Amino acid sequence: MGIGSCSSSINHGHIAFSNLSSFSSSSATHRRHYNPNYPSKFIHIFPREVAGFAQIPLRITGCQSMNSFSSSLPLSFGDSESIETEGSREEVVPKLFPAPLSISPLLLEKLVYDALVWSSLNGLVVGDKAVKKSGTIPGVGMVHAPFSLLPSALRESYWKQACDLTPIFNELVDRVSLDGEFLQNSLSRTKKVDAFTSRLLDIHSKMMEINKKEVIRLGLHRSDYMVDAETNLLLQIELNTISSSFPGLSCLVSNLHRYLLNQHGKELGLDSNSVPGNAAVRQFAEALAKAWTEYDNERAVVMFVGQPEERNMYDQHWLSFLLKEIHSVNTIRKTLSEIDAEGELLLDGSLAIGGQIVAVVYFRAGYSPNDYPSESEWDARLMIEQSTTIKCPSITYHLVGTKKIQQELAKPMVLERFLEAEEVAKLRKCFAGLWSLDDSEITKHAIERPELFVLKPQREGGGNNIYGDDLKEMLLKLQQEKIEEQAAYILMQRIFPTSSLSYLIREGISHENQAISELGIYGAYLRNNDKVIMNEQCGYLMRTKVSSSNEGGVAAGFAVLDSIYLT
Ligand code: ADP
Ligand code: MG
Repeated sequence: MGIGSCSSSINHGHIAFSNLSSFSSSSATHRRHYNPNYPSKFIHIFPREVAGFAQIPLRITGCQSMNSFSSSLPLSFGDSESIETEGSREEVVPKLFPAPLSISPLLLEKLVYDALVWSSLNGLVVGDKAVKKSGTIPGVGMVHAPFSLLPSALRESYWKQACDLTPIFNELVDRVSLDGEFLQNSLSRTKKVDAFTSRLLDIHSKMMEINKKEVIRLGLHRSDYMVDAETNLLLQIELNTISSSFPGLSCLVSNLHRYLLNQHGKELGLDSNSVPGNAAVRQFAEALAKAWTEYDNERAVVMFVGQPEERNMYDQHWLSFLLKEIHSVNTIRKTLSEIDAEGELLLDGSLAIGGQIVAVVYFRAGYSPNDYPSESEWDARLMIEQSTTIKCPSITYHLVGTKKIQQELAKPMVLERFLEAEEVAKLRKCFAGLWSLDDSEITKHAIERPELFVLKPQREGGGNNIYGDDLKEMLLKLQQEKIEEQAAYILMQRIFPTSSLSYLIREGISHENQAISELGIYGAYLRNNDKVIMNEQCGYLMRTKVSSSNEGGVAAGFAVLDSIYLT
C-alpha cells in the first residue's frame, strides 16, 4: 500500500489485565469503567514495547544543545498544558528509526535557512503579533508559522489505524447528532453550571422545539491522538467538530519537509517519500464545494465566520482561495457581530448577508465564550441555525464535539447505540480513560495521584486544562464547596508520549529541545438526507510541543506545526 493510503485494519496485539488492585474496586459498577487501554499506573498491563511518536533522533556533531533537558522536571506546553516526561522512555526511541542521524552545525544552519526561505515563498505564514494590524489586514505583518525543522517519526501502523478510524468517527458524529434527547440528557447537569454550554443547548432546544431537521449535513472534523509510551496505544485526545484548525498550513509543512528531504535527504539519511502526502486543504475545499452544490443555488456563497482579529487568517484564506480557484465558488468572510448586523432570514428560510444568499456557513469562530462578547453574537448564531443554510458545524455537530459527550460515549454500551460491533471495537481501542466527577473512586485516586490525570472543562481552543497540583486543589475545592460545579468538568487519563530531540523553528530561530507530538487526522463528511456524499479521511496535522523548566520557574513553552515521517 502506498504512503498516504490508509485502509488496512490494525491489530494491536494482545492486552490483558493482570492486576486491578491499584484501584481496589470490587464493585461491578466501578469495574465497568476500567478500560483495557489504561497504562500500568492505572492497572497493570503487559510491559510496553516501543512508543509511537518521536522526533527523528539527531546526533549533533560539534554542537551543544541550547537547552539541557531534565527528565524529571515538569514541562509546560503552549499556554497552559503541562506534561511530565520520564527519562526512561528515551531509551526506546532509537528502535523506531533506521539509524540515529548525524547533523553538523553547518547543515543545520543550511536547513534552517532553506526552510525559512521556503516558508516565506509558499505562504506558510501567520500574522506577526508584533505588528498591530497583522490580525486584520492580509499581507501586513507576516511571519513564518512556527514549525519543526524535520518531520516526526510515526509508526506506519499508528498512521493507518488513525486513518482507518476517521470515517467511523465521521459517521458517529452524524448519528449522535440525530439523537437530540441523548445530547440534552448527557449535558443537562453541565448546562446548570456552565453558561456557555447552556447557551449552546438553548439554541439546540429551540431547534428541537420547532422540529428543525438538517437535511444536508457537513462536518469538517479533526480527531487528535497521542501514542501512550507505556501501553503503545494510539489514544484519542479529543474530536474537534468545530473550527478544526490548520488544514491549510499543515499541508504546507508536509511540502516543506518533503522539499528539505529532497534537497538534503542523502546527508540526513532520510527519504522524502516517507512523508505522507497531505491534501487536507484540497479535500476540505472539495467538501465545502460539494455542500455548496447540494444547496443548489448558483448565486449563493460560502461564508467563513471569523474572529474580528485573526492571526491564523492565512490558514483560512488557503481554504477560501482554493474554493474560488478550483471550484469557482464565491466566499465571503464575516464576524458573528457583522452577521447579526447585516444578515436576514428570508421568507423561504434562506440566510442572506447584504443581499447575498449563503449556501454554507463555515465556522472558524464561535467555539469559545470569548467569541460571544454580547447578545449580538448569540443572535447571529441563532439566526444561522434557524436558516436553511448548511452549517459547518450545525449546533448538534458542535455539541457532539464537547468533552462531556466524548466522556459519555466512552461509557459502556453507549457506542453500541450508534455503531456496529466491529466499529465499536475499533473506536474503543483508541479511547483513553474518561470519567465524570461523579465517580468518587476515580476522583479520590486523582486527588492522590494528580499527575496521572487531566481535568478538562467544556472548552475548546487550548489553555483550559488543569494538571498536577492545580488539578488536586480543584478537585478538593469542588468536593468541599461546589458539588454542582463538578458537572462542568471531566477527568481524563493523562497520556505520556515518548519525547525526543527536535528542532523547533520560531521567529527564524532554531530551538533544540525534547518534544512530544500529537497527531490530528482530518475527516470530511457530507450527507444529503439518506445519501452519504462524502465520508473521507482528509490529510493530517502533526503538532509538536516543547517546553523547558529550570529550578527558578517555568520557561515559556511552545508548540509548532510538524509533519510525519513514517517508519
Ligand atoms: P482543546 O479543546 O483546548 O484543544 P484538548 O483536549 O485538545 O483541548 O487539550 C489541549 C491539549 O492538552 C492537547 O493538545 C494535549 O496537548 C493536551 N492534552 C489533552 N488531553 C491530554 C491527555 N489526556 N494526556 C496528555 N495530554 C493531554
Ligand atoms: Mg485540542
